[in-house]
Amino acid sequence: MDYQDTLDFARSLDEKDPLGHYRDQFYFPRHNGKKVIYFCGNSLGLQPKTVRAAVEQELKDWEDFGVEGHFHGKNPWFYYQHFFTEQTAELVGAKTDEVVVMNTLTTNLHLMMVSFYRPTETRYKIMIEEAAFPSDHYAVETQIRFHGFDPAEALIELIPRGGEDYLRTEDILEAIADHGDQLALVMLGGVNYYTGQFFDLPAITESGHRAGAQVGFDLAHACGNLPLKLHDWDIDFAVWCSYKYLNSGPGGPSGVFIHRKHGKNPEIPRFAGWWGYDEATRFQMKKGFVPREGAMGWMLSNDQVLGMAAHKAALAIFHEAGMEALRSKSILLTGYLEYMIGRVNQFLGKEQFRVITPKDSEQRGCQLSIIAAENGKAFYDDLTQAGVVADWREPDVIRVAPVPLYNTFEEVFEFARILKEHQAGN
Ligand SMILES: *Cc1c(COP(=O)(O)O)cnc(C)c1O
Repeated sequence: MDYQDTLDFARSLDEKDPLGHYRDQFYFPRHNGKKVIYFCGNSLGLQPKTVRAAVEQELKDWEDFGVEGHFHGKNPWFYYQHFFTEQTAELVGAKTDEVVVMNTLTTNLHLMMVSFYRPTETRYKIMIEEAAFPSDHYAVETQIRFHGFDPAEALIELIPRGGEDYLRTEDILEAIADHGDQLALVMLGGVNYYTGQFFDLPAITESGHRAGAQVGFDLAHACGNLPLKLHDWDIDFAVWCSYKYLNSGPGGPSGVFIHRKHGKNPEIPRFAGWWGYDEATRFQMKKGFVPREGAMGWMLSNDQVLGMAAHKAALAIFHEAGMEALRSKSILLTGYLEYMIGRVNQFLGKEQFRVITPKDSEQRGCQLSIIAAENGKAFYDDLTQAGVVADWREPDVIRVAPVPLYNTFEEVFEFARILKEHQAGN
């Protein structure tokens, strides 16, 4: 696309945008009486207007039915997890028996490692990005210790080459081959939260398997951001949260993918609870755990219906809009942001803003991570003052994520205008 640095151009793209009407389906925080420019959907997505009624429906059924709501409510709570199956499978490219919505993200990461990190004397290493999200680091570190190993030896952290901002696929694949028969698990973020890099999931999975390791991904920043084909890519497991790109509200439920080849194997060790038990005979309350087939066989507890009601409403929007259409707009929108940042640098006559996210749109989603040459934090604070919601990540990165569901090209243009003005004012 030949982009132009004019308001008219930005507006013309908004007029042609087939997804433009979704913006009205969300609530926006306000700043000085105006909608903020909300570029923080990678951290907490905005509230869909349909969420309130969905939550109220469950409150009403609780009010009217009490415990009978489990079977007699409009959306019987006993079966609540089933209400996500098809749309979740569609969203991540899975078979319906490969997904379940339950618990929260870090909890599920641990549950997956119980099943898929089974270290032996000789094969005990986990590979992760050095710049992975802290919770993921804590999870793998403590899993390693739990099994009696030392993270200093058992945790392999991938670091970009000197002078480079993100990892090269060839280097990841080489590291996997190097650790080969000592590698028990490869567990990376699908999209790295800090750089915004989208990894080559099929290539990493393939080489992990060739080395004899299990391969799992934390898709917190990938789910709802990029089309995924988890089943075809033969990934062993994946986890994600629903409150970032999926707009399901603070602390919203997590999603899990477990490949069918594992889901059909009741012998896989797991930590169990009654909701993972065969559904038809669950209420016979018998001892002796028999897992349900598929990913639901990893469930522990009955569904957290109030939070899940919001997720249900939010997922319906993704189903309607379609991940492919969202992705097409996202490539254009983030491409426009990249172009406009380049224009700001030209205007300033120096590289004041350096984008550390890959330039190749195949290797990124919505987000660009930007480092300001100087005064990054002061600049970020000024953005906030001007009504832009982005986020600051220590030590010096500003993450900006225009999302295709509710952001516009005009907002990207406006963001760049604020950057120029800030600089002019200093
Ligand atoms: C957002 C995020 C988390 C947060 O974990 P919770 O258990 O939902 O609090 C963990 N890992 C990654 C990669 C994230 O992006």
